[in-house]
Amino acid sequence: MRKRGPALAAHALEILARLKREYPDAHCELDFETPLQLLVATILSAQCTDKRVNMVTPELFRAYPGASELASAKPAELEDMIRSTGFFRNKTKSLLGMSAAIVERHAGEVPQTMDELVKLPGVGRKTANVVLGNAFATNVGVVVDTHVGRLVVRLGLTSDTDPVKVEQTLMKLFPRDDWALLSHLLIFHGRRVCIARTPRCAECVLGDICPSSRV
Ligand code: SF4
Repeated sequence: MRKRGPALAAHALEILARLKREYPDAHCELDFETPLQLLVATILSAQCTDKRVNMVTPELFRAYPGASELASAKPAELEDMIRSTGFFRNKTKSLLGMSAAIVERHAGEVPQTMDELVKLPGVGRKTANVVLGNAFATNVGVVVDTHVGRLVVRLGLTSDTDPVKVEQTLMKLFPRDDWALLSHLLIFHGRRVCIARTPRCAECVLGDICPSSRV
């Protein structure tokens, strides 16, 4: 039976403690130096690996160093540069719309609140959480991507699959200071051990407390 109440809260904290020990260097795997670069990289990471995004962004950041340069980019040139990340037409529209809005509404600087970020074209709550948590060290929510969504169900933290509901649950179960790190830990674990098709339960540090362990 799924844990509830204090037992679930204790289960969550035990998972956090073990993953912190296992991945002391867990971090955002997108390369960036400025909030704008992280925003751009996060938009490009939809349906694409961080590794692929990191191959594309150095040239992109050199060609368009600020929001105003990006907002004036020629769509065809931008499309060519980001083609390999997939969905490049939509992503080009998002990058152009987002950077133009930053220039017009925020004097060229990435805004630092959830409300303002999600009003930018192509920016949803997940992208806003990535930027707030990693570029501004502000924990407003928890990033729920496919790895996080898969792991929290396997680990018995929730049975929800709707990212908004999952995020609400995680915000109640984990200390606010750890929200950004929590996503990195789960994503690290999801990429290395709790893989979608073939989880490596025999090597998992959560094996004895995971209700989905296959060992
Ligand atoms: S025991 Fe298996 S299913 Fe559970 S978290 Fe570890 S790898 Fe994933």
